[in-house]
Amino acid sequence: MKYGIVGRSGRMGQEIEKLFGDAGHELVLASDAAGTECGGKPEVILDFSSRDALAGTAELCGTHGAALIVGTTALSEEQLASLRKLGEKAVVVQSFNFAAGVNVLKMILRDYAPLLSDWDMEIEETHHSKKKDAPSGTAVLLREAAGRDAPAHSLRLGGVPGDHSVHFANDGEVLSFTHRALSRGVFALGALRAALFALKARPGFYSFGDVLRTGKEK
Ligand code: NAD
Repeated sequence: MKYGIVGRSGRMGQEIEKLFGDAGHELVLASDAAGTECGGKPEVILDFSSRDALAGTAELCGTHGAALIVGTTALSEEQLASLRKLGEKAVVVQSFNFAAGVNVLKMILRDYAPLLSDWDMEIEETHHSKKKDAPSGTAVLLREAAGRDAPAHSLRLGGVPGDHSVHFANDGEVLSFTHRALSRGVFALGALRAALFALKARPGFYSFGDVLRTGKEK
């Protein structure tokens, strides 16, 4: 596929470029805070950058008729609404976390957290010290999946790619779920899976859960 990256020089942009390159895909558009270079027509544009870039990214997708994969975190409600709107005419896959395990945890919380509505719930997340937002987009995603405004505690340490724990407790029991990304490669792999899904999908606003379910329907 011909693809573009917004945030190309960043940690995730570099990871994506390497994985997509190894898989034989061609980078034809690269955008950064410094500007955009374009040497072809991308079929898919991946945005792992900053919320400030999103409007420009949506414009690039319109210009090229490209599908959009958005991994950037700390998006506002208005920005998420604008992506849903864009999904009326283009393929948009948005997730604050492109790891399969986190998205399965999201499904578990959506289904079962209501059974623990009278238990305490707290979220713990640890990320590398260069991460700009707190709590992480994943903590927000897990909180929303549980349908509760649970407190989130953020640690910023060294080079950790992303650890999340969701704890539930009452006076008699503690139940904890933990996910650890062992490298940034898992997010790039999820982004590749989403991009391949986007090439075949009809216009719509999709989650990474939708991508994971494709081909696994009963
Ligand atoms: P980074 O700081 O290493 O890189 C950011 C990149 O964005 C840089 O290339 C920078 O030049 C570019 N950028 C910044 N402002 C821009 C603008 N206005 N226009 C165009 N480009 C701009 O960050 P990172 O660690 O690569 O993370 C990038 C984003 O991806 C963050 O929001 C992070 O939380 C998110 N992230 C998401 C997932 C996921 O699975 N969804 C996983 C990891 C990181």
